[in-house]
Amino acid sequence: MDSVTLASFPFLNGASAMAERLGADLESLLQSAAYEDARSRGRQRVLDALRQSDVSDISLQAANEFERLLEMMSYTYARMIVSAIDDRFLTKRYALAESVRLDRNLGHILSQGGEETVISVARELNVSAVSTPKGLMMPFTDFLRFSARIKSTDWKLVNTEVFDGYVYLPGPSFCRVLQNALQDRLDSELPFDLPPEVEASVRPSATTISEELEELKSRYSAEGLGEVTADLFPPCMRTLLANTQNGMNLPHSGRFALTSFLHNLGMSSEEILLLFSESPDFDESKTLYQIRHITGESSGTEYTAPECATMKTHGICYEPDKLCGSEKVNHPLVYYRRKAYLERRNQKD
Ligand code: SF4
Repeated sequence: MDSVTLASFPFLNGASAMAERLGADLESLLQSAAYEDARSRGRQRVLDALRQSDVSDISLQAANEFERLLEMMSYTYARMIVSAIDDRFLTKRYALAESVRLDRNLGHILSQGGEETVISVARELNVSAVSTPKGLMMPFTDFLRFSARIKSTDWKLVNTEVFDGYVYLPGPSFCRVLQNALQDRLDSELPFDLPPEVEASVRPSATTISEELEELKSRYSAEGLGEVTADLFPPCMRTLLANTQNGMNLPHSGRFALTSFLHNLGMSSEEILLLFSESPDFDESKTLYQIRHITGESSGTEYTAPECATMKTHGICYEPDKLCGSEKVNHPLVYYRRKAYLERRNQKD
C-alpha cells in the first residue's frame, strides 16, 4: 500500500513496516524533537474525539514521506495517551471518533473509484469483501456481526439483497459497517498496558487531556446538572443516578425512567449521555440512540417518565420517603416539583 493510504489508515499492517523502513521507533516518537509534530497531532486526535466524536483530517496528498510517517505515528501516540488516561468514556469516544474518520475517508476513496483500497481495508478488519459488477458485497455473517447495533429497519437482513451468502451493500452502507468493525477493534484493544517509562513520557500529554475530560464530565455531573437540582430528586431517581455514576448497570426499565425523567426536567441528550458514561457496558452510539429515541429526537414520540405505580411494578421505586407517601405525589416529576415548592416556602419562612 502507498504511504498516503497507510497514513490515512494507520491501523493497517503495512503501517509498522513503513515505520520500520523509514527508521521510526518508539523512542524517537516519545523523545525526539523531529517527532514533535506526531506527538502534537496525537494529542489533537484525542482532543478531537473528546470535543466532537470525530478525528479531523489533514492533507496528505501534498505531504512528503516523512510528514506522512508523522501522521501515521500520531495514531500510535494517541493510543498511548488514551491508554495512560484509562477512562471508559474517553476510550469509547476515541474508538468512535477514529471509526467515524475511517467511514468518511473510505467514502471519499470510493467516490474516487478506489474500490480495491476499500476491499483491502475491509479484509484487514476481518470483513471478507468482494467486488462484483453490481458493487461491493460481504458475507452475511460479517454484515450481522458489525451491523447488529444499527437499529434502523433498513439494516435488517431481510431488507438487504443477499446472493449466495453475500450481502450486497451500497458504498456508504459498506463503509458504515467497516466503521463499526474498527470501533469494535479499538474498543477491544484499548486501553493497553504501557511500560512505566512509556507511561511517564506520555503522562504530561495525558494530564492535560484528563483535565479537559474531567471538566467536560463535571459540567454534567450530579453536582452540576445545570438547571436541574439533584437534591430535589425523589429517592428512586437519586438511586438510579448514583448507581449509574458508580459504574453499575441499570435494568432497561431504570434507564428508561432516568432518561425520560432527566429529559422531562430539561436536560439535553448530550448531558444525559455523559451521565451514563460510567456504566460498565457504556457504548456511546448505542446509548445516544436510546436517549434520542426516548426524547423523541429520532422516534417522533417524546416519552414521559413512568408514574410511581409503574416504577413500583418494575421494582425501581427505591426507598420511598415521607414525601413519596403524601397524597399529592403519584409521579417522580410531581415529587421533584413538590419538593422544590416546599423548599422555596421554607426559605421564605
Ligand atoms: S414513590 Fe414514586 S417518587 Fe417516590 S421513590 Fe417511589 S417511584 Fe420514586
